[in-house]
Amino acid sequence: MNVIIMGPPGVGKGTQSHAVVTSKGCVHISTGDTLRMAIRSGSELGLKVHAIMNAGDLVSDELMMDLVRDRLSQPDAQQGWLLDGFPRTAVQAEGFIGLLDGLGQTVDAVLVLNAPADEIVRRLEGRVTCRACNEVMNLKGFGPVQPRFCPFCGSAEDPQRPGKSALYQRADDKEETIRHRLEVFRKKTLPAAWALEERYPLHEIDGLGTPEQVADRIAAALG
Ligand code: AMP
Repeated sequence: MNVIIMGPPGVGKGTQSHAVVTSKGCVHISTGDTLRMAIRSGSELGLKVHAIMNAGDLVSDELMMDLVRDRLSQPDAQQGWLLDGFPRTAVQAEGFIGLLDGLGQTVDAVLVLNAPADEIVRRLEGRVTCRACNEVMNLKGFGPVQPRFCPFCGSAEDPQRPGKSALYQRADDKEETIRHRLEVFRKKTLPAAWALEERYPLHEIDGLGTPEQVADRIAAALG
């Protein structure tokens, strides 16, 4: 099954992607995760995109098309994929439709998750990620005693950089940058969803409620 999951930052795309890939057996391709890994490894790609990502802006369409074309050609992507964070502009959407047509592939479902802006800011401000296992969590759920160890993998330190804590807040998860990313979503990414809707089945999903409730709505849409 080939699925695209879209939505503003912090709406729960990552969490829901894990549920879909587990139930459908497809590979999770998160362009944001790929770029963050490139930054951490200090690669040429990472150096190019670091400042753009921290500012909450979009990486160039050309670079993203190359990245996705390359990723889809890898063996594990032949069993089906879930794209999380791509396409993000109308140009990427048009380019991607052309790429899939060339490969003789289609998209079974485009999922567009949504939630009000204030709810998104509230969720993202408490969001941290583990450098060791890449799990994302919200520290607001932990109350006044904040964890030093990742509750998922138990790490306290970044395995690649001893002394640096495992849990960290993304540089682009500050209120001002979150509001900018929301605007980028409305102006640039919604047109990408409209372009995809011309070709593939699109489902709008309410992103409010517990992760389980949202997962049930997605499961109903995917059938
Ligand atoms: P995400 O983890 O999906 O929120 O992505 C984090 C950041 O990575 C975005 O704010 C962009 O700077 C960059 N990024 C990820 N995917 C794309 C894409 N398809 N096009 C352009 N920039 C992207």
